[in-house]
Amino acid sequence: SLFLHLPKAYHVRSIDIFEERSQSLINQTLINLNDANHPLMYRGTAVYPFTVPSQQTTVIYIRSHIYSHQWFSSEIYDDEHSRKALVGGHIDIALLVGMMVALVFYNSLLYFATSKKENILYSFYLISGLTWIALSYGLLAKAFGIYGDDVFILNLSVFTMPIFLVLFMMAIFETRVLYPKEHLALQGILALLSCFFIYGLFDVAGSLIHASSMAALMMVVTFSVSISLFRKKNPLVKFFLIGHTFFVVFNGFAVMYYKGIVEPNYINSHGVGIGIVLEALTLAFIISYRIKILEDIRSKQDELKRQASTDPLTQLYNRRYFMAEGGYMVEKAKTSGESVSVIILDIDHFKAVNDQYGHNTGDIVLVSVADIFRRCSRDRDLIARFGGEEFVILLPGADHKEAQECAERIRAGVEKHHFNADDGSDLKVTVSLGVAELNRSSSEPLEAAVKRADKALYEAKTRGRNQVRGAAELIVA
Ligand code: GH3
Ligand code: MG
Ligand code: MG
Repeated sequence: SLFLHLPKAYHVRSIDIFEERSQSLINQTLINLNDANHPLMYRGTAVYPFTVPSQQTTVIYIRSHIYSHQWFSSEIYDDEHSRKALVGGHIDIALLVGMMVALVFYNSLLYFATSKKENILYSFYLISGLTWIALSYGLLAKAFGIYGDDVFILNLSVFTMPIFLVLFMMAIFETRVLYPKEHLALQGILALLSCFFIYGLFDVAGSLIHASSMAALMMVVTFSVSISLFRKKNPLVKFFLIGHTFFVVFNGFAVMYYKGIVEPNYINSHGVGIGIVLEALTLAFIISYRIKILEDIRSKQDELKRQASTDPLTQLYNRRYFMAEGGYMVEKAKTSGESVSVIILDIDHFKAVNDQYGHNTGDIVLVSVADIFRRCSRDRDLIARFGGEEFVILLPGADHKEAQECAERIRAGVEKHHFNADDGSDLKVTVSLGVAELNRSSSEPLEAAVKRADKALYEAKTRGRNQVRGAAELIVA
Protein backbone atom coordinates (compact mmCIF):
# COMPACT_ATOMS: atom_id res chain seq x y z
CA SER A 1 0.00 0.00 0.00
CA LEU A 2 1.73 3.13 -1.25
CA PHE A 3 1.14 6.82 -1.86
CA LEU A 4 2.20 8.81 -4.89
CA HIS A 5 2.87 12.48 -3.99
CA LEU A 6 2.95 15.32 -6.50
CA PRO A 7 4.16 18.16 -4.23
CA LYS A 8 4.23 20.75 -7.06
CA ALA A 9 0.67 20.02 -8.15
CA TYR A 10 -0.41 23.51 -7.02
CA HIS A 11 1.30 24.90 -10.12
CA VAL A 12 -1.00 23.26 -12.63
CA ARG A 13 -4.60 23.40 -13.73
CA SER A 14 -5.46 19.69 -13.53
CA ILE A 15 -3.80 16.27 -13.38
CA ASP A 16 -4.78 12.92 -14.90
CA ILE A 17 -3.48 9.78 -13.24
CA PHE A 18 -3.72 6.41 -14.99
CA GLU A 19 -2.89 3.17 -13.20
CA GLU A 20 -2.02 0.16 -15.33
CA ARG A 21 -1.54 -3.45 -14.22
CA SER A 22 -0.76 -6.36 -16.53
CA GLN A 23 -1.19 -4.09 -19.53
CA SER A 24 -4.73 -3.09 -18.65
CA LEU A 25 -6.05 0.12 -17.18
CA ILE A 26 -7.37 -0.53 -13.71
CA ASN A 27 -7.92 3.02 -12.47
CA GLN A 28 -8.16 6.53 -13.89
CA THR A 29 -8.50 9.76 -11.87
CA LEU A 30 -8.84 13.39 -12.84
CA ILE A 31 -7.80 15.95 -10.22
CA ASN A 32 -9.13 19.42 -10.97
CA LEU A 33 -7.04 21.91 -9.01
CA ASN A 34 -9.90 24.37 -8.97
CA ASP A 35 -11.97 21.94 -6.97
CA ALA A 36 -10.90 23.17 -3.55
CA ASN A 37 -12.25 20.08 -1.77
CA HIS A 38 -10.89 17.39 -4.05
CA PRO A 39 -10.29 14.30 -1.83
CA LEU A 40 -6.85 13.65 -3.35
CA MET A 41 -5.54 17.21 -2.74
CA TYR A 42 -3.79 18.11 0.45
CA ARG A 43 -2.53 21.74 0.67
CA GLY A 44 -1.29 21.93 -2.89
CA THR A 45 0.07 18.38 -2.97
CA ALA A 46 -1.77 15.69 -4.93
CA VAL A 47 -1.75 12.38 -3.02
CA TYR A 48 -2.74 9.24 -4.96
CA PRO A 49 -3.03 5.99 -2.98
CA PHE A 50 -2.42 2.68 -4.75
CA THR A 51 -1.51 -0.91 -3.97
CA VAL A 52 0.94 -3.22 -5.66
CA PRO A 53 0.12 -6.91 -5.16
CA SER A 54 3.19 -9.13 -4.67
CA GLN A 55 4.84 -10.46 -7.81
CA GLN A 56 2.95 -7.95 -9.94
CA THR A 57 3.89 -4.73 -11.70
CA THR A 58 2.01 -1.46 -11.55
CA VAL A 59 2.68 1.36 -13.99
CA ILE A 60 1.44 4.85 -13.24
CA TYR A 61 1.12 7.55 -15.89
CA ILE A 62 0.76 11.20 -14.88
CA ARG A 63 -0.42 13.92 -17.22
CA SER A 64 -0.44 17.55 -16.11
CA HIS A 65 -2.52 20.24 -17.78
CA ILE A 66 -0.41 23.28 -17.24
CA TYR A 67 -1.16 27.00 -17.29
CA SER A 68 2.05 28.17 -18.83
CA HIS A 69 5.04 26.34 -17.42
CA GLN A 70 5.73 22.95 -15.97
CA TRP A 71 7.09 22.33 -12.48
CA PHE A 72 7.19 18.66 -11.78
CA SER A 73 8.33 16.27 -9.10
CA SER A 74 6.94 12.99 -7.84
CA GLU A 75 7.61 10.95 -4.73
CA ILE A 76 6.38 7.55 -3.53
CA TYR A 77 5.98 6.84 0.20
CA ASP A 78 4.57 4.19 2.48
CA ASP A 79 1.84 5.20 4.90
CA GLU A 80 4.09 6.47 7.67
CA HIS A 81 6.41 8.51 5.44
CA SER A 82 3.52 9.90 3.47
CA ARG A 83 2.08 11.45 6.62
CA LYS A 84 5.47 12.86 7.58
CA ALA A 85 5.98 14.41 4.16
CA LEU A 86 2.66 16.21 4.36
CA VAL A 87 3.18 17.96 7.67
CA GLY A 88 5.49 20.87 8.36
CA GLY A 89 8.14 22.02 5.94
CA HIS A 90 8.33 25.35 4.14
CA ILE A 91 9.63 27.09 7.24
CA ASP A 92 12.55 28.41 5.16
CA ILE A 93 10.21 29.98 2.59
CA ALA A 94 8.03 31.43 5.36
CA LEU A 95 11.20 32.92 6.85
CA LEU A 96 12.27 34.52 3.55
CA VAL A 97 8.78 35.91 3.00
CA GLY A 98 8.54 37.08 6.63
CA MET A 99 11.84 38.92 6.27
CA MET A 100 10.59 40.68 3.16
CA VAL A 101 7.28 41.57 4.85
CA ALA A 102 9.28 43.18 7.67
CA LEU A 103 11.29 45.16 5.10
CA VAL A 104 8.07 46.29 3.42
CA PHE A 105 6.72 47.44 6.76
CA TYR A 106 9.93 49.28 7.65
CA ASN A 107 10.17 51.01 4.28
CA SER A 108 6.54 52.09 4.36
CA LEU A 109 7.24 53.73 7.71
CA LEU A 110 10.33 55.39 6.19
CA TYR A 111 8.18 56.61 3.33
CA PHE A 112 5.68 58.21 5.68
CA ALA A 113 8.53 59.79 7.64
CA THR A 114 10.59 61.11 4.71
CA SER A 115 8.22 61.12 1.68
CA LYS A 116 11.11 59.77 -0.41
CA LYS A 117 9.60 57.91 -3.31
CA GLU A 118 12.37 55.31 -3.48
CA ASN A 119 11.06 53.83 -0.23
CA ILE A 120 7.61 53.23 -1.63
CA LEU A 121 8.99 51.90 -4.94
CA TYR A 122 11.24 49.55 -3.01
CA SER A 123 8.23 48.40 -0.95
CA PHE A 124 6.31 47.56 -4.12
CA TYR A 125 9.35 45.74 -5.47
CA LEU A 126 9.48 43.70 -2.25
CA ILE A 127 5.74 42.98 -2.35
CA SER A 128 6.08 41.72 -5.93
CA GLY A 129 9.09 39.60 -4.96
CA LEU A 130 7.50 38.06 -1.90
CA THR A 131 4.28 37.37 -3.82
CA TRP A 132 6.27 35.49 -6.42
CA ILE A 133 8.21 33.53 -3.79
CA ALA A 134 5.09 32.69 -1.77
CA LEU A 135 3.33 31.56 -4.93
CA SER A 136 6.08 29.65 -6.72
CA TYR A 137 7.63 27.98 -3.71
CA GLY A 138 4.22 26.80 -2.57
CA LEU A 139 3.84 28.84 0.61
CA LEU A 140 0.36 30.00 -0.42
CA ALA A 141 -0.64 26.43 -1.27
CA LYS A 142 0.99 24.68 1.70
CA ALA A 143 0.25 27.23 4.41
CA PHE A 144 -3.09 28.59 3.23
CA GLY A 145 -4.39 25.93 0.84
CA ILE A 146 -4.70 28.49 -1.98
CA TYR A 147 -3.97 27.44 -5.60
CA GLY A 148 -5.58 27.16 -9.00
CA ASP A 149 -7.27 29.87 -11.08
CA ASP A 150 -7.84 32.15 -8.06
CA VAL A 151 -4.19 32.97 -7.61
CA PHE A 152 -2.85 32.33 -11.09
CA ILE A 153 -2.93 36.05 -11.87
CA LEU A 154 -0.40 36.61 -9.07
CA ASN A 155 2.18 35.21 -11.48
CA LEU A 156 2.17 38.68 -13.03
CA SER A 157 4.41 39.66 -10.10
CA VAL A 158 7.17 38.34 -12.36
CA PHE A 159 6.60 41.56 -14.39
CA THR A 160 5.83 44.01 -11.58
CA MET A 161 9.04 43.05 -9.76
CA PRO A 162 11.38 44.29 -12.54
CA ILE A 163 9.07 47.26 -13.22
CA PHE A 164 9.50 48.49 -9.65
CA LEU A 165 13.20 47.65 -9.68
CA VAL A 166 13.70 49.88 -12.75
CA LEU A 167 11.61 52.68 -11.18
CA PHE A 168 13.67 52.29 -8.01
CA MET A 169 16.89 52.65 -10.03
CA MET A 170 15.55 55.82 -11.68
CA ALA A 171 14.72 57.30 -8.27
CA ILE A 172 17.84 56.33 -6.38
CA PHE A 173 20.34 57.30 -9.08
CA GLU A 174 18.27 60.33 -10.15
CA THR A 175 18.78 59.23 -13.73
CA ARG A 176 16.24 61.67 -15.20
CA VAL A 177 18.33 64.64 -14.11
CA LEU A 178 21.85 63.23 -13.83
CA TYR A 179 22.10 60.47 -16.46
CA PRO A 180 19.68 61.17 -19.33
CA LYS A 181 21.14 58.50 -21.66
CA GLU A 182 20.82 55.71 -19.10
CA HIS A 183 17.39 57.06 -18.20
CA LEU A 184 16.29 56.52 -21.78
CA ALA A 185 17.43 52.87 -21.70
CA LEU A 186 15.55 52.30 -18.44
CA GLN A 187 12.45 53.96 -19.87
CA GLY A 188 12.62 51.62 -22.86
CA ILE A 189 12.70 48.44 -20.79
CA LEU A 190 10.06 49.91 -18.49
CA ALA A 191 7.72 50.48 -21.43
CA LEU A 192 8.28 46.91 -22.67
CA LEU A 193 7.67 45.39 -19.23
CA SER A 194 4.54 47.50 -18.79
CA CYS A 195 3.19 46.28 -22.13
CA PHE A 196 3.67 42.66 -21.08
CA PHE A 197 2.06 43.37 -17.73
CA ILE A 198 -1.03 44.94 -19.34
CA TYR A 199 -1.19 42.10 -21.88
CA GLY A 200 -0.97 39.72 -18.91
CA LEU A 201 -4.04 41.27 -17.30
CA PHE A 202 -6.02 39.85 -20.22
CA ASP A 203 -4.01 36.69 -20.87
CA VAL A 204 -1.82 35.66 -17.96
CA ALA A 205 -0.58 32.42 -19.51
CA GLY A 206 0.18 34.10 -22.84
CA SER A 207 2.28 36.83 -21.26
CA LEU A 208 4.18 34.39 -19.04
CA ILE A 209 5.53 32.57 -22.09
CA HIS A 210 7.78 35.60 -22.64
CA ALA A 211 8.62 36.14 -18.98
CA SER A 212 12.06 34.51 -19.02
CA SER A 213 13.22 36.32 -22.18
CA MET A 214 11.95 39.58 -20.70
CA ALA A 215 13.83 38.87 -17.45
CA ALA A 216 17.02 38.21 -19.41
CA LEU A 217 16.63 41.41 -21.45
CA MET A 218 15.88 43.43 -18.34
CA MET A 219 19.01 42.09 -16.62
CA VAL A 220 21.12 43.04 -19.63
CA VAL A 221 19.75 46.60 -19.53
CA THR A 222 19.95 47.09 -15.75
CA PHE A 223 23.44 45.62 -15.70
CA SER A 224 24.67 47.81 -18.56
CA VAL A 225 23.15 50.90 -16.93
CA SER A 226 24.82 50.06 -13.60
CA ILE A 227 28.20 49.55 -15.23
CA SER A 228 27.82 52.83 -17.09
CA LEU A 229 26.97 54.65 -13.83
CA PHE A 230 29.89 52.90 -12.16
CA ARG A 231 32.23 54.29 -14.81
CA LYS A 232 30.74 57.71 -14.17
CA LYS A 233 31.69 57.24 -10.50
CA ASN A 234 28.23 57.21 -8.95
CA PRO A 235 28.90 56.45 -5.25
CA LEU A 236 25.87 54.17 -4.75
CA VAL A 237 25.98 52.03 -7.83
CA LYS A 238 28.68 49.60 -6.64
CA PHE A 239 26.31 48.33 -3.96
CA PHE A 240 23.56 47.99 -6.51
CA LEU A 241 25.92 45.98 -8.72
CA ILE A 242 26.74 43.65 -5.82
CA GLY A 243 23.03 43.08 -5.11
CA HIS A 244 22.21 42.59 -8.73
CA THR A 245 25.09 40.15 -9.14
CA PHE A 246 23.64 38.05 -6.30
CA PHE A 247 20.34 38.06 -8.16
CA VAL A 248 21.87 37.02 -11.48
CA VAL A 249 24.20 34.36 -10.03
CA PHE A 250 21.53 32.59 -7.96
CA ASN A 251 19.03 32.82 -10.80
CA GLY A 252 21.72 31.27 -12.97
CA PHE A 253 21.96 28.32 -10.52
CA ALA A 254 18.18 27.96 -10.68
CA VAL A 255 18.15 28.00 -14.49
CA MET A 256 20.80 25.26 -14.59
CA TYR A 257 18.64 23.18 -12.25
CA TYR A 258 15.46 23.82 -14.26
CA LYS A 259 17.23 22.86 -17.46
CA GLY A 260 18.56 19.67 -15.88
CA ILE A 261 22.20 20.68 -16.37
CA VAL A 262 23.07 20.17 -12.68
CA GLU A 263 21.84 17.84 -9.94
CA PRO A 264 19.19 19.53 -7.80
CA ASN A 265 20.24 20.76 -4.38
CA TYR A 266 18.84 23.21 -1.87
CA ILE A 267 20.63 26.25 -3.32
CA ASN A 268 19.75 25.79 -6.97
CA SER A 269 16.19 24.63 -6.35
CA HIS A 270 15.61 27.80 -4.29
CA GLY A 271 17.90 29.98 -6.45
CA VAL A 272 15.37 32.57 -7.56
CA GLY A 273 14.09 33.14 -4.01
CA ILE A 274 17.59 33.38 -2.53
CA GLY A 275 18.63 35.78 -5.33
CA ILE A 276 15.62 38.01 -4.71
CA VAL A 277 16.16 38.15 -0.96
CA LEU A 278 19.91 38.86 -1.21
CA GLU A 279 19.26 41.61 -3.73
CA ALA A 280 16.48 43.02 -1.56
CA LEU A 281 18.81 43.21 1.45
CA THR A 282 21.48 45.00 -0.60
CA LEU A 283 18.89 47.48 -1.84
CA ALA A 284 17.84 48.08 1.77
CA PHE A 285 21.47 48.90 2.49
CA ILE A 286 21.55 51.34 -0.46
CA ILE A 287 18.49 53.13 0.94
CA SER A 288 20.10 53.65 4.34
CA TYR A 289 23.40 54.64 2.72
CA ARG A 290 21.58 57.26 0.64
CA ILE A 291 19.87 58.59 3.77
CA LYS A 292 23.35 58.98 5.26
CA ILE A 293 24.64 60.84 2.17
CA LEU A 294 21.63 63.19 2.24
CA GLU A 295 22.11 63.72 5.99
CA ASP A 296 25.79 64.61 5.44
CA ILE A 297 24.83 67.18 2.82
CA ARG A 298 22.18 68.61 5.14
CA SER A 299 24.54 68.89 8.10
CA LYS A 300 27.12 70.62 5.87
CA GLN A 301 24.43 73.08 4.84
CA ASP A 302 23.44 73.56 8.47
CA GLU A 303 27.07 74.23 9.37
CA LEU A 304 27.37 76.82 6.59
CA LYS A 305 24.15 78.44 7.80
CA ARG A 306 25.48 78.49 11.35
CA GLN A 307 28.75 80.04 10.20
CA ALA A 308 26.85 82.72 8.30
CA SER A 309 24.83 83.64 11.37
CA THR A 310 27.49 83.61 14.11
CA ASP A 311 30.44 85.74 15.06
CA PRO A 312 33.60 83.62 14.80
CA LEU A 313 35.34 85.17 17.84
CA THR A 314 32.66 84.90 20.53
CA GLN A 315 30.41 82.29 18.85
CA LEU A 316 27.47 84.60 19.58
CA TYR A 317 24.94 85.39 16.84
CA ASN A 318 25.73 88.32 14.56
CA ARG A 319 23.62 91.43 13.97
CA ARG A 320 21.88 90.11 10.86
CA TYR A 321 20.74 86.93 12.57
CA PHE A 322 19.67 88.87 15.65
CA MET A 323 17.45 91.21 13.68
CA ALA A 324 15.85 88.37 11.69
CA GLU A 325 15.35 85.88 14.53
CA GLY A 326 14.57 88.66 17.04
CA GLY A 327 11.86 90.05 14.74
CA TYR A 328 10.33 86.59 14.56
CA MET A 329 10.44 86.18 18.37
CA VAL A 330 8.79 89.60 18.82
CA GLU A 331 5.95 88.54 16.45
CA LYS A 332 5.50 85.33 18.44
CA ALA A 333 5.40 87.22 21.74
CA LYS A 334 2.81 89.57 20.29
CA THR A 335 0.37 86.73 19.62
CA SER A 336 0.87 85.20 23.06
CA GLY A 337 0.67 88.61 24.79
CA GLU A 338 4.09 88.25 26.42
CA SER A 339 6.38 91.20 27.20
CA VAL A 340 9.71 91.47 25.37
CA SER A 341 12.74 93.55 26.39
CA VAL A 342 16.15 94.33 24.94
CA ILE A 343 19.47 95.10 26.62
CA ILE A 344 22.35 96.82 24.82
CA LEU A 345 25.81 96.64 26.34
CA ASP A 346 29.07 98.30 25.55
CA ILE A 347 32.42 97.70 27.22
CA ASP A 348 33.77 100.80 28.94
CA HIS A 349 37.03 102.29 27.69
CA PHE A 350 37.74 99.25 25.63
CA LYS A 351 40.11 101.18 23.40
CA ALA A 352 42.30 101.64 26.47
CA VAL A 353 42.37 97.86 27.05
CA ASN A 354 43.59 97.35 23.50
CA ASP A 355 46.12 100.17 23.81
CA GLN A 356 47.49 98.99 27.14
CA TYR A 357 47.47 95.18 26.75
CA GLY A 358 47.32 94.64 23.00
CA HIS A 359 44.65 93.49 20.61
CA ASN A 360 45.06 89.85 21.63
CA THR A 361 44.09 90.58 25.22
CA GLY A 362 41.21 92.66 23.89
CA ASP A 363 39.95 89.57 22.07
CA ILE A 364 40.29 87.44 25.22
CA VAL A 365 38.22 89.99 27.13
CA LEU A 366 35.53 89.93 24.44
CA VAL A 367 35.29 86.13 24.64
CA SER A 368 35.15 86.16 28.48
CA VAL A 369 32.52 88.89 28.50
CA ALA A 370 30.41 86.85 26.05
CA ASP A 371 30.64 83.90 28.49
CA ILE A 372 29.38 86.09 31.32
CA PHE A 373 26.41 87.17 29.18
CA ARG A 374 25.55 83.56 28.49
CA ARG A 375 25.82 82.64 32.17
CA CYS A 376 23.68 85.56 33.35
CA SER A 377 20.85 85.05 30.83
CA ARG A 378 18.23 82.38 30.29
CA ASP A 379 18.23 79.73 27.57
CA ARG A 380 15.47 81.41 25.61
CA ASP A 381 17.27 84.78 25.47
CA LEU A 382 18.86 85.72 22.16
CA ILE A 383 22.38 87.09 22.60
CA ALA A 384 24.31 88.69 19.75
CA ARG A 385 27.48 90.63 19.12
CA PHE A 386 26.26 93.78 17.45
CA GLY A 387 29.71 94.85 16.32
CA GLY A 388 33.00 95.83 17.92
CA GLU A 389 32.60 95.64 21.69
CA GLU A 390 28.86 96.19 21.63
CA PHE A 391 26.37 93.42 22.41
CA VAL A 392 22.61 93.00 22.49
CA ILE A 393 20.28 90.62 24.30
CA LEU A 394 16.62 90.00 23.50
CA LEU A 395 14.60 88.75 26.48
CA PRO A 396 11.23 87.28 25.53
CA GLY A 397 8.81 87.06 28.46
CA ALA A 398 10.68 89.75 30.45
CA ASP A 399 9.18 93.13 31.30
CA HIS A 400 11.22 96.26 31.93
CA LYS A 401 11.84 95.47 35.60
CA GLU A 402 13.03 91.89 34.97
CA ALA A 403 15.26 93.03 32.10
CA GLN A 404 16.79 95.69 34.31
CA GLU A 405 17.49 93.05 37.00
CA CYS A 406 19.14 90.85 34.39
CA ALA A 407 21.24 93.81 33.16
CA GLU A 408 22.30 94.52 36.70
CA ARG A 409 23.37 90.87 37.18
CA ILE A 410 25.52 91.16 34.05
CA ARG A 411 27.01 94.48 35.12
CA ALA A 412 27.94 93.08 38.56
CA GLY A 413 29.23 89.83 37.01
CA VAL A 414 31.61 91.70 34.69
CA GLU A 415 32.70 94.11 37.41
CA LYS A 416 33.83 91.37 39.79
CA HIS A 417 35.41 89.18 37.08
CA HIS A 418 39.21 88.99 36.85
CA PHE A 419 40.30 88.86 33.22
CA ASN A 420 43.67 87.42 32.26
CA ALA A 421 45.83 89.63 30.12
CA ASP A 422 48.25 88.22 27.56
CA ASP A 423 51.21 88.92 29.85
CA GLY A 424 49.60 86.97 32.73
CA SER A 425 48.54 90.01 34.68
CA ASP A 426 45.08 90.59 36.11
CA LEU A 427 42.81 93.09 34.47
CA LYS A 428 39.36 94.49 35.22
CA VAL A 429 36.75 95.94 32.88
CA THR A 430 33.24 97.28 33.30
CA VAL A 431 30.22 97.53 31.03
CA SER A 432 27.45 100.07 30.55
CA LEU A 433 23.96 98.86 29.69
CA GLY A 434 20.76 100.32 28.28
CA VAL A 435 17.40 98.55 28.75
CA ALA A 436 14.09 98.98 26.91
CA GLU A 437 10.83 97.07 26.96
CA LEU A 438 8.98 96.85 23.67
CA ASN A 439 5.88 98.99 23.72
CA ARG A 440 3.04 96.51 23.20
CA SER A 441 0.21 98.99 22.87
CA SER A 442 1.84 100.58 19.80
CA SER A 443 3.25 97.26 18.41
CA GLU A 444 6.69 98.83 18.47
CA PRO A 445 9.10 97.19 16.03
CA LEU A 446 12.32 95.68 17.33
CA GLU A 447 14.51 98.30 15.60
CA ALA A 448 12.75 101.12 17.47
CA ALA A 449 13.19 99.42 20.85
CA VAL A 450 16.87 98.78 20.09
CA LYS A 451 17.26 102.47 19.28
CA ARG A 452 15.67 103.46 22.61
CA ALA A 453 17.91 101.01 24.49
CA ASP A 454 20.89 102.52 22.67
CA LYS A 455 19.87 105.97 23.85
CA ALA A 456 19.64 104.65 27.41
CA LEU A 457 23.13 103.16 26.97
CA TYR A 458 24.43 106.54 25.87
CA GLU A 459 22.91 108.01 29.06
CA ALA A 460 24.68 105.37 31.15
CA LYS A 461 27.96 106.33 29.46
CA THR A 462 27.54 110.05 30.06
CA ARG A 463 26.48 109.45 33.67
CA GLY A 464 29.81 107.81 34.45
CA ARG A 465 29.72 104.24 32.92
CA ASN A 466 29.54 100.88 34.78
CA GLN A 467 25.78 101.26 35.23
CA VAL A 468 22.38 100.21 33.94
CA ARG A 469 20.04 102.76 32.51
CA GLY A 470 16.40 102.11 31.50
CA ALA A 471 14.77 103.76 28.52
CA ALA A 472 11.68 104.38 30.68
CA GLU A 473 13.77 106.72 32.83
CA LEU A 474 14.69 108.90 29.88
CA ILE A 475 13.14 112.29 29.67
CA VAL A 476 11.40 112.28 26.30
CA ALA A 477 12.68 115.30 24.45
P1 GH3 B 1 33.41 103.77 25.66
O1 GH3 B 1 33.47 103.50 27.13
O2 GH3 B 1 32.92 105.12 25.35
O3 GH3 B 1 32.66 102.71 24.97
O4 GH3 B 1 34.93 103.72 25.18
P2 GH3 B 1 35.52 102.70 24.19
O5 GH3 B 1 36.98 102.85 24.15
O6 GH3 B 1 35.08 101.32 24.55
O7 GH3 B 1 34.83 103.10 22.82
P3 GH3 B 1 35.25 103.11 21.35
O8 GH3 B 1 34.00 102.79 20.55
O9 GH3 B 1 35.93 104.41 21.03
O10 GH3 B 1 36.28 101.94 21.13
C1 GH3 B 1 35.92 100.67 20.77
C2 GH3 B 1 37.17 99.87 20.50
O11 GH3 B 1 36.90 98.50 20.40
C3 GH3 B 1 37.88 100.30 19.28
C4 GH3 B 1 38.33 99.01 18.61
O12 GH3 B 1 39.72 98.99 18.46
C5 GH3 B 1 37.93 97.97 19.64
N1 GH3 B 1 37.48 96.77 18.97
C6 GH3 B 1 36.42 96.64 18.17
N2 GH3 B 1 36.33 95.36 17.74
C7 GH3 B 1 37.35 94.69 18.32
C8 GH3 B 1 37.79 93.32 18.27
O13 GH3 B 1 37.22 92.47 17.59
N3 GH3 B 1 38.89 92.99 19.00
C9 GH3 B 1 39.54 93.90 19.75
N4 GH3 B 1 40.61 93.50 20.46
N5 GH3 B 1 39.16 95.18 19.81
C10 GH3 B 1 38.10 95.59 19.11
MG1 MG C 1 33.05 100.89 24.51
MG1 MG D 1 31.48 101.12 21.27
